[in-house]
Amino acid sequence: MHRIIRTKRSGQILGLLFFLVGVTFLLMVFWKAWLNIPPASDTLSALWSYILAEDFDLAGLITLKLSYLLLTGGILLSLSLIVLALSRQIFYVSGGSVSLKCPYCRNSWRARRAMGWAECPFCRKFIQPTVTKKYN
Ligand SMILES: [Zn+2]
Repeated sequence: MHRIIRTKRSGQILGLLFFLVGVTFLLMVFWKAWLNIPPASDTLSALWSYILAEDFDLAGLITLKLSYLLLTGGILLSLSLIVLALSRQIFYVSGGSVSLKCPYCRNSWRARRAMGWAECPFCRKFIQPTVTKKYN
């Protein structure tokens, strides 16, 4: 049994997009909170209470709670991981055989699998056979 991992390009792009937007949201939230909290002794809890209390003004168009933005960023990050994981498909290929062709004597024969190097059963040369056909 062979294991083949094939990745879907569209899924990877989508996952990457979610990841970038999610990271941008999180960075925006923390950056805004970081600039606005007073230099208190307990930075983490000050940061947290600011995020929970404050609104975020997106270019004067939409006003969101900072906590929503944080939540959205977190959701997008987890979504990106799921999409990236799902875009990897694993195939199990069992059985089957291939038709190999000798580049010297041009004879073909069937083999269990494609080989980088093989001994041609006709001319007995050690050759790199080319795969001409796949049987399932
Ligand atoms: Zn040959």
